[in-house]
Amino acid sequence: MSKKVAIVGGGISGLGAAWMLKKSGFEVTVYEEKAHPGGHMESFEFEVAGQMERCHMNPGHFRYSPHIKALSKLWDLPTYEQEFGVYYHHGDESWATFSHSEFFLAHADECRRFTDMMKELYERDAAAEASASTLHDYLTVNGFSPNFIQHIFSPVFSWVFGDIRKKDIHHISLVHVVELFALGIFSFFKPIVMLRFPKGGLELLEKLLEPLDGDVLLNTRVENVVRNEQGVLVVDSMGGQRRFDEIIFSVNFEIIQSILDTPHPMEASILNGLKYRDLHIELHGDKSIVPSHFFEEERIGVILTDNTATDPMIPFDSQGRISEIMASTITGDMSPVDRAALYADRLYKLEKLTIESLIARGNVFQIQGFQNTWYCGLSTVPGFTEFCMVSGFAVAEKLGAKYPIEHNENTQKVYENVKRMMFNSFPSLRIFS
Ligand SMILES: Cc1cc2nc3c(=O)[nH]c(=O)nc-3n(C[C@H](O)[C@H](O)[C@H](O)COP(=O)(O)OP(=O)(O)OC[C@H]3O[C@@H](n4cnc5c(N)ncnc54)[C@H](O)[C@@H]3O)c2cc1C
Repeated sequence: MSKKVAIVGGGISGLGAAWMLKKSGFEVTVYEEKAHPGGHMESFEFEVAGQMERCHMNPGHFRYSPHIKALSKLWDLPTYEQEFGVYYHHGDESWATFSHSEFFLAHADECRRFTDMMKELYERDAAAEASASTLHDYLTVNGFSPNFIQHIFSPVFSWVFGDIRKKDIHHISLVHVVELFALGIFSFFKPIVMLRFPKGGLELLEKLLEPLDGDVLLNTRVENVVRNEQGVLVVDSMGGQRRFDEIIFSVNFEIIQSILDTPHPMEASILNGLKYRDLHIELHGDKSIVPSHFFEEERIGVILTDNTATDPMIPFDSQGRISEIMASTITGDMSPVDRAALYADRLYKLEKLTIESLIARGNVFQIQGFQNTWYCGLSTVPGFTEFCMVSGFAVAEKLGAKYPIEHNENTQKVYENVKRMMFNSFPSLRIFS
């Protein structure tokens, strides 16, 4: 008889696990509290001047994403590459990755030195050293100037990790940036190259959903999970109670703590160790947030100021054109966006990248599989779509499913690294390579 598996969460990681399990003959049920699957890869419509516009919250995937590429090839999904830069606006300290200002050039040596130091740590595989150091301490101890820290490093860093509060680098672990800079995935000198889908990644979600017809329960929140000798009992918000052999959580650890009945002290302490921060995003048409010349420029990028990070979004049908719909990450209590220009807003929870969170994440492997309970998704791996989806595959394989795509050298590397992070130990400096 095939095993029955419950999956809490219909984001890319839960769907990745469900897709792979289903293909291997498992009975799966995905619980998704919202009316649509996708989670953080949300895509939704809203009205602008009498017309419906669609926005995708995920601007793209790192070009390095080998599984996303392999699946796009397998399913014949069109993708395109696009350069994406940083524009930092701050008076005399302004600079951009596309055009290097005098201010930037005065600090170019520091940019090179930082990059070389990341390469050196990476080549030595100094994971323990990098994990123990905060970004702020590392930069200060190594003599980087306050201007570099505040006006060059912090904006670049905060764009990648979705927050522009400069004080964050005081407690963020260095381990999160080493590989990105060492491999040149991220650079001060040139824009990042993103892999994009014309429909913002919806096409990927649709393909993962194809074999799951009837297995995804939408508008159904898991409220309680009870484990005993008979297996796992899932109680949901629609009054349903179902028994499963195994359960996979692909939601954040705060949610798991609120629904897991009588967790073992070890589970409680690991789940409680990971902390989250709010990411508040507003979709709007307030052009005053963005310098006026921006819309004339051909180049795409995130615009950073002291209190917003604004990404003029790209609607699904206009490859390359900068949309006048903007997504701003707002910092502080006051939103500078004109309320009349606001179309929608969203609040996300992202992991705090502190040393304490890193230690908690590094111990998740100790509770994987305990009482038929498994964990994948953004609390178990770095929060990019590639790793989240692959974490779903990795947990499905632990339950006996067969890895579903033909490996190439790059997919193999990422898959092995994700498995090591989830089931052996973390931190590690090697995620992509
Ligand atoms: C604004 C934004 C932009 C991003 N841009 C990029 C990018 O450009 N490139 C990139 O690689 N990554 C990006 N990311 C990160 C990436 O989107 C996420 O890491 C990834 O999508 C997380 O997937 P997940 O399945 O682990 O979790 P989630 O997407 O959070 O999925 C969890 C799901 O569980 C559901 N749920 C929660 N509680 C319950 C419950 N009790 N019962 C049932 N269902 C429940 C939620 O509704 C959600 O659908 C971005 C994230 C955000 C927020």
